[in-house]
Amino acid sequence: AKSMENYVNKDVKEIRPSAIRDFDMQISSIPGLVKLTLGEPDFNVPEHVKQAAIRGIQANDSHYGPAAGKLELRKAVANYLKDTRNVDYNPEDEMLITNGGTEALTAITFSLLNPGDKVWVPTPVFSLYFPIITLTGAECIQVDTSADDFVLTPEKLQSELDQHGDVKMIILNYPCNPTGRAYPEDLLRKLGKILHDQNVLIVADEMYSELTYDQEHFSLATIYPEQTLLVSGLSKSHAMTGWRLGYIAGPSALISQIYKIHGFLVTCVNDIAQDAAIEALNNGRQDPDAFRAEYKKRRDYVVSRMEKMGFDIATPEGAFYVFAKIPAQFGNDDFNFALDLAKKAKVGVIPGSAFGAGGEGYIRISYAASDEKLAKAMDYIESYLDNLE
Ligand code: PLP
Repeated sequence: AKSMENYVNKDVKEIRPSAIRDFDMQISSIPGLVKLTLGEPDFNVPEHVKQAAIRGIQANDSHYGPAAGKLELRKAVANYLKDTRNVDYNPEDEMLITNGGTEALTAITFSLLNPGDKVWVPTPVFSLYFPIITLTGAECIQVDTSADDFVLTPEKLQSELDQHGDVKMIILNYPCNPTGRAYPEDLLRKLGKILHDQNVLIVADEMYSELTYDQEHFSLATIYPEQTLLVSGLSKSHAMTGWRLGYIAGPSALISQIYKIHGFLVTCVNDIAQDAAIEALNNGRQDPDAFRAEYKKRRDYVVSRMEKMGFDIATPEGAFYVFAKIPAQFGNDDFNFALDLAKKAKVGVIPGSAFGAGGEGYIRISYAASDEKLAKAMDYIESYLDNLE
């Protein structure tokens, strides 16, 4: 009999399953584990958004819709982006409603990249980017930002440019998972100018744009709308991870191509989730405020506890993660450190290496968890480390 291996696509064989989910699964069965592993808001979907979905069910919104998404929703997204980014997107041909940010990013790389194309990915970052680039045969060039407190500087970008001419695309995530770093307007303007002058297509992953703590969110799409594909959605802003609602906004010449792959992948997005999203964007713009206030408190708490324990942290200014450097006396092996934390301290975190170059020697802690859970986790880590010393 033929080995099952022979039936599998050779490129798929090469890639590994999501390192984050993989590690999470590996430690999940440990009894008494306090899990701070996943990027999953612990809040519930706002009540008025739920009610809109229930009305959608009652109205038999249970059919295939347009592949690009309901026009009413595309209009709601366009209004939202006009008000928050000051960009005019035409809902008819400059926008797609996607199955979360994940499908948005996948549809983008699958429809735009050719084998041999070069793509810059500043790291450490959300690990989905790596397989969706390499599966197309394109080259993923990881740009390690760890020496610059996890932001891409214009100097670093320039030196990358000198090494690799002819880069087609950059995927930049801000605020960033896993580092929580946000990019201020003046920095984005400098980076944007270099990218614009070099004709590098910008994919701006702004999934966490509503969750910034120390500064207003600013978008590259505001300065270079004709060269930017803006990706965002409601997973984090409205605690709707399981509803799978994302979107892409950008130039119609690209959207019309991405539209084809998007249609083949998903046909269209869940009808009822779209009803909920219309409500969230039209009438729930203040919903993230309460989440933001709560997350900020937790960030301050976790950062201060971790720093007291000797972890080095570049201040997370957005999202809901702390990316902490393991104190030198405990070595540099983040995978083993995280495994020990899970088994012995009973706290689940993700090893930094899962997020690409520059993540080695770090752990990611998600503070999208209750105060009680966070306090317990911090106490556990502290007493575990105290006993090691
Ligand atoms: N982009 C970033 C930076 C993320 O952290 C995530 C989710 O964790 C996504 C995209 C995917 O979002 P969604 O759950 O909407 O697919």
